[in-house]
Amino acid sequence: MPSLQSVISCLSDYDPSALPVNQANAIIAEVLEPVRAMEQLAIRSALDRVLAHDVTSPIDVPAHDNSAMDGYAFPSQALTQAQAQGDLALDVIGTAYAGKAFAGEVQANQAVRIMTGAVMPAGCDTVIPQEFVEVQAGGNLIRFAPDQVRAGDNRRLRGEDLARGQSALRAGRILTPADLGLLASLGVPEVKVRRRLRVAFFSTGDELRSVGEPLDAGCVYDSNRYTLHGMLRRLNVELIDMGVVRDDPEAMEAAFRSACENADAIITSGGVSVGDADYTKQIMAKLGDVTFWKIAMRPGRPMAFGRIASNGHEAMLFGLPGNPVAVMVTFYHFVRAALHRLMGADVAPLPRIRARSTTPIRKKPGRTEYQRGIAAMGADGNLEVRLTGQQGSGVLRSMSEANCFIVLDHDQDTVVAGDLVEIMLFDGLI
Ligand code: AMP
Ligand code: MG
Repeated sequence: MPSLQSVISCLSDYDPSALPVNQANAIIAEVLEPVRAMEQLAIRSALDRVLAHDVTSPIDVPAHDNSAMDGYAFPSQALTQAQAQGDLALDVIGTAYAGKAFAGEVQANQAVRIMTGAVMPAGCDTVIPQEFVEVQAGGNLIRFAPDQVRAGDNRRLRGEDLARGQSALRAGRILTPADLGLLASLGVPEVKVRRRLRVAFFSTGDELRSVGEPLDAGCVYDSNRYTLHGMLRRLNVELIDMGVVRDDPEAMEAAFRSACENADAIITSGGVSVGDADYTKQIMAKLGDVTFWKIAMRPGRPMAFGRIASNGHEAMLFGLPGNPVAVMVTFYHFVRAALHRLMGADVAPLPRIRARSTTPIRKKPGRTEYQRGIAAMGADGNLEVRLTGQQGSGVLRSMSEANCFIVLDHDQDTVVAGDLVEIMLFDGLI
């Protein structure tokens, strides 16, 4: 694993006191390496886990040409022969069920009654759905207009879903319900996945009280541990909630050491601002290779990142700011991708889409802003977005009410009402 210092020393324009968002993310990505350990799991247990190997299909799916409809299978030569002769009449010589094929060979003037999923009988390449057919002679004869169907219709081809040897799923994929079904359709009972990431987190700040405690004068309830709990749960990591850690050098060091010895990554909130007089930063720096950034963003300027060690155990450290919205913004825009990388997951960046801002938004070039917005379809059918009220970094209600981030890039200037802005929908992110 490259050291943080070696990664940083390669950058010519590195300025830790005004670090652009992209540069911070690039440094984080370069320093991190995925956990190596894997485990073998039955596919049902592998939902939301990170696939550790490529899966190629051991079989053709479907394994045979089969019918996509309930109807009658027949050889399509009958259609060409029937041109301009009015209705086509075919003798029905048997039935093909799903799981019980018709054994005989079908001739040009013949058909076989067929159910959805049944193997196409030898000689047949086309299925006429039963609703287009007039059944006569007690089921022994069918009649239909030949223009109701074209050669090859309503037939699923062998291997059309996946051909044998074709890549079905790539290593790094976070397995979805569709993937579990796909694996089952290939007859694959188990897969190897990366072991779950262990993430320890705690809050720092002597003003913090935990839910359930009385709120003393000048104190606030610790909400960051709850948002972090929720955000981490969505990433399917193992959580180690270490509570609120007092601003006391011994308590702080013990917490960092214990976190380091039990987790792959540590997330703290609070205590990393410039003005902070507490011990958080000192202990972080004492235990490892940690840098303290001021990121050119709003909210969420201060952030510590690095690697700390205790008794031979290492863990990545993300020291997030204390303000509740800043915690969520820095989590989604730095930590989420970093944890994906640590867990070996290959996750495409979330798409940004454009929406028309119905309100002006004040913005200075030189920092990235993540304002909280509410996007909805406008009267003209196009996407519109407006700000949730107060955008202060302590106003957690803005996150709760929003359904998207309005992302105003580094160089973007003030937005005039009616301008297009980029948004990142929460759906899929949180
Ligand atoms: P700090 O980054 O430690 O200077 O904290 C910035 C602001 O966030 C202060 O107003 C803190 O009281 C508040 N804050 C810090 N940690 C938490 C927390 N865990 N829950 C709620 N607010 C917090
Ligand atoms: Mg503090």
